Amino acid sequence: RAKHDGRGRFAFFEQAMDASMQLRLRMERDLRAAVDQGQFLLHYQPIVSVATGALAGFEALVRWRHPERGMVPPGDFIGLAEEIGLIAPLGRWVLERACADAALWPRPVKVAVNVSPRQLADSTFPDLVAATLKSTGLAPSRLELEITESALMHNVEAAKNALLRLKLTGCSIAMDDFGTGYSSLGYLRTFPFDKVKIDRSFVKHLAGTKESSAIIRAVTGMCDSLGIISTAEGVENQEQLAYLREERCIEAQGYLFGRPVPMDELPAVFARFAGGNVLQMDGFARPA
Ligand code: C2E
Ligand code: MG
Ligand code: MG
Ligand code: MG
Repeated sequence: RAKHDGRGRFAFFEQAMDASMQLRLRMERDLRAAVDQGQFLLHYQPIVSVATGALAGFEALVRWRHPERGMVPPGDFIGLAEEIGLIAPLGRWVLERACADAALWPRPVKVAVNVSPRQLADSTFPDLVAATLKSTGLAPSRLELEITESALMHNVEAAKNALLRLKLTGCSIAMDDFGTGYSSLGYLRTFPFDKVKIDRSFVKHLAGTKESSAIIRAVTGMCDSLGIISTAEGVENQEQLAYLREERCIEAQGYLFGRPVPMDELPAVFARFAGGNVLQMDGFARPA
């Protein structure tokens, strides 16, 4: 009887483990195959000047074209890629693809590439960036690397050193998702950032709460006095844009200006911006 109970418990445990473990193992196996077989693609989302509506650049955002599950967003696989040691080859592919694509664009605007904490911690990463700029022929000043606060916290000295080495390649550095982590405005003085991207969560409540606009005002003011470009993420409507303009935010990104699209749709996006001011397009209010 005792023996029977034991087996029963084990069978139950095995079954429960089965569901989540198998899912995870399959995901791992699929992700390894995806890296080997190149099942990724990049979408590009425009970043605009708040004052003029001119195109400032594009952010490269990775997607996984899964053979059965269709398009998988980065939030569903970047973390796993980091955990199982696949972020290095995946990140290398993203960097190369983005630089090679940007080198073909009709206008020399910037391309922003997201860098994970693991990539930044790899002491060979600055060499990879330098080599990629060289092999793709992209002007270094056109590359911007987006780094989250979590990549900086663990070892401040090492992170500072990595950012300084990256800046020697000629690229610029942005702090991504500002305000979501354990960040402080002090980080803006400690690290050599060229840009701060204010997280979407603050923009979302901009018209609703006094707190959000106070935070945006503090960040844009601090950036302004330090010579850092402030960029707002997730701008979806005119009301938010009007607030950002009032707070003298320099750049903005969000569905209001364009969703992330694949490379073959970029000619249409460049054409849309060719008039110089996307804010005067149909459906957009003219600046006051
Ligand atoms: P992120 O770098 O903060 O990128 C902005 C995210 O906000 C993108 O989601 C974008 O599609 C979304 N977004 C842009 N405008 C709006 C808007 O107006 N409203 C709303 N609701 N969302 C908007 P996505 O593409 O799903 O990427 C999510 C995150 O995955 C990125 O956040 C970034 O942290 C990470 N990621 C994306 N590509 C890469 C990559 O190549 N490498 C690494 N390490 N991480 C990446
Ligand atoms: Mg980003
Ligand atoms: Mg961001
Ligand atoms: Mg964000």
